[in-house]
Amino acid sequence: MQKIKVRFAPSPTGSLHLGGARTAIYNYLYARSNNGSFLLRIEDTDTKRSDMENVEQIYRSLKWLGLDWDEEPIFQSNRAEIYKKYIEQLLKQDKAYKCFCTPEEIEEERKSGAFQYSGKCRHLTKSEVDQKVSQNQNYVVRFKNPDKSIIFTDRVYGKISVKSHELDDFIIQRSDGSPTYQLAVVVDDFEMGITHVIRGEDHLSNTPKQINLYLALEKPIPKFAHLPLLLGADGKRLSKRHGATGVDEYKALGYPSAAVFNYLALLGWAPKKGQEILDKKSIIKQFSLNGIAKKSAVYDIKKLDWISDKHISVISNDEIFENLFPIFIKKGYITENHDNNRKKYIISAINLLKSRMKNYNQFFEWGDYFFKDPEVYDNNASSKYWNNQEVTENMTQLLNKFINIQSWNQMEIENLVRTTATELGCKAGYLIHPLRLAVTGQGVSPGIFEIVELIGMKTVLKRISKAIKIFPKE
Ligand code: GLU
Repeated sequence: MQKIKVRFAPSPTGSLHLGGARTAIYNYLYARSNNGSFLLRIEDTDTKRSDMENVEQIYRSLKWLGLDWDEEPIFQSNRAEIYKKYIEQLLKQDKAYKCFCTPEEIEEERKSGAFQYSGKCRHLTKSEVDQKVSQNQNYVVRFKNPDKSIIFTDRVYGKISVKSHELDDFIIQRSDGSPTYQLAVVVDDFEMGITHVIRGEDHLSNTPKQINLYLALEKPIPKFAHLPLLLGADGKRLSKRHGATGVDEYKALGYPSAAVFNYLALLGWAPKKGQEILDKKSIIKQFSLNGIAKKSAVYDIKKLDWISDKHISVISNDEIFENLFPIFIKKGYITENHDNNRKKYIISAINLLKSRMKNYNQFFEWGDYFFKDPEVYDNNASSKYWNNQEVTENMTQLLNKFINIQSWNQMEIENLVRTTATELGCKAGYLIHPLRLAVTGQGVSPGIFEIVELIGMKTVLKRISKAIKIFPKE
């Protein structure tokens, strides 16, 4: 059987966005689940809008997602001669022709209601063409649309048939001599030996034209699978309006790459058994083009959050630590040559918070109290739990007990809080909530006794004393 070869062919006019990443992931999955190759082609013929920085950015995003490609990437900008050769061949075989119509003439045609090029220059004689060329008249090269319907089966959209009159003599070479997308993509795909073209649905209408080119060039036609559009929650095509669309933005927002990979893989594809939390390996194992749905996929950040939450809860503390390390450094929570105790402390803090984290950054949203005393206190919590003098008196009692505690560990701490509550004749909650407020500044947190143990006696006593000074005395 022929080895499967697929490609991802981004135009480097910006950074990798979610739609492109999904296309890359599906190509990658198809290759890896079939022992095939996954190639990269940089479609940089639009030199004005393409630049190397974008290319590097695309590489970085692909690598971050865990997509490794085979072979060196191909750059269309290096292949002008190859495209020329095939354009010459089509001209020689009378399958293409030079068109001298000026942009104004084309515009005239359009204005008078034509939605396709009339084919006017198709009928020029050889001597007419030679004369115009010798007069240095500008021309484009157009493909001679054959008088034949095209029928093909898309692996997602099924049988598609397009009548000849629905297509026109499209341009394959611009007046500056550069090839158009239609020509370059076909030449590259057969030269690279691509067996399956997997790309966005927005290219579906290009496919019949490209099949015509394969036929004219007498090259094998690859199989096609077009991926349904990605939409925002409002049913409109996914765009900046819907929030972050760049893969690099999701990295910056603190989503683990495994979660983004998992989420994007499910945007249009579902495994047979319907599981939703999957790692790369099991997605590769189960992926098939048959599992791709025809209907548009709706991007939903809540679903990504949910998936991400599940991933983070099984990612090792060490991996989370490594991911957050640059931020710890930046915030001064750790130094480059830290001792092991510091790392252990942070790992314990991660362990306490990770079951609720939807992204890594939430560690800082919630967990700054592991590193510094609260500067502000949650208003709701303080008006609910520390709203009178009695609480202040109770907390003063608790503080005195803490000073004399036998050993500073979670169990002792909890025991002490509960016995103090009994002595004071109140429920344990009357001490626990103000304690949380004093130590974390927040109304909710992971288990407070674990936090209190981890943060340490000295700091906790200091924070309770500070809160006693701040909250009501009468
Ligand atoms: N460069 C095209 C794009 O970014 C992809 C072309 C293709 O996959 O055929 O949309």
